[in-house]
Amino acid sequence: MGEDVGTLKRPLPLLDYLRQHNWTGHPASRSELVGLCPLHEETRPSFYVNTRKDVFYCHGCGQGGDLIRFIQLSRHLSFRQSLACLDPRTIAEADSAAVLEQVTAFYQQQLANYREALSYLNKRGLQDPILIKELEIGYAPGGSLRRHLTAQGYPFELLRQVGLLNAQGADAFYQRIIFPLRQGKHVVNLYGRSIGNAFAHRFLPGTKGGLHAWEKVKHRADVIVVEGLFDYAVLRQAGFHNVTCSLGTHLNATQFRQLCEGPRTVYVTFDVDDNQSGQQAAEQLAHRLVAKGIATRRVLLPRGHDPNFFYIAGGNAHQFQSLLEAAQP
Ligand SMILES: [Zn+2]
Repeated sequence: MGEDVGTLKRPLPLLDYLRQHNWTGHPASRSELVGLCPLHEETRPSFYVNTRKDVFYCHGCGQGGDLIRFIQLSRHLSFRQSLACLDPRTIAEADSAAVLEQVTAFYQQQLANYREALSYLNKRGLQDPILIKELEIGYAPGGSLRRHLTAQGYPFELLRQVGLLNAQGADAFYQRIIFPLRQGKHVVNLYGRSIGNAFAHRFLPGTKGGLHAWEKVKHRADVIVVEGLFDYAVLRQAGFHNVTCSLGTHLNATQFRQLCEGPRTVYVTFDVDDNQSGQQAAEQLAHRLVAKGIATRRVLLPRGHDPNFFYIAGGNAHQFQSLLEAAQP
């Protein structure tokens, strides 16, 4: 038993576990962080984590011990139940979700500091500060993420695995507007739109999750599907709350299944580009949806437009509503 406990405990340091559960601490000494105690109510931090010994102690409630002890106390579990919480698969997912949560917050803080980022949002027709905050839009200037995260104790190897750093240790996102992609409450990926000359669209490796902000629209009878997050953002800004985004014209299996759940009308609003690729994709999607019994309308924007450009070019909510009403099966 003793050996089992050791091998289970080792992969996850106490600090990582606490961070996955939204604990934040400030350095108190070389190997100690201090923050508010998760085990009792307090306003002044008295909960110390020793990262070298991998233990905690709270001067407020007098509790202390290792990770398993912490799980026992915080979740009122037995020793054996606490061990079961430390399954490596659960941990790997929680680790990357925790770091992506930190990165989202960090990039959000950066946004206000970079004039070029704000003027880019403005150029894309996005001005509403409340919406920008709600969508958690941030800016990756590049070159500062690694320092920020390693100072907080995130291991280099984790940042590499998640794809935030490349093999040389440089930030993956440089001069990009960042949208976090959430599934449920967890951030599963980030989308970065270059504001410079680099390739326009970039995601982290791994899943993009389902349709964007699906939880908000899944009960709607009418759902508008757009292909890009800027399309999504300007439609939200214009007052359309039944909009979602597929992050490209080819829906993954999860996204397609989501649209097919329950009776609804889907308004496919892909780009009307010169090479017709957006419209071909819209037509294929419409066929697949109709085959599943889902009413589908194809919204025809003016030539050369996507919903984002429609607004930049002077379109308004009333005109977009007319396009929805005119949409054909
Ligand atoms: Zn305490």
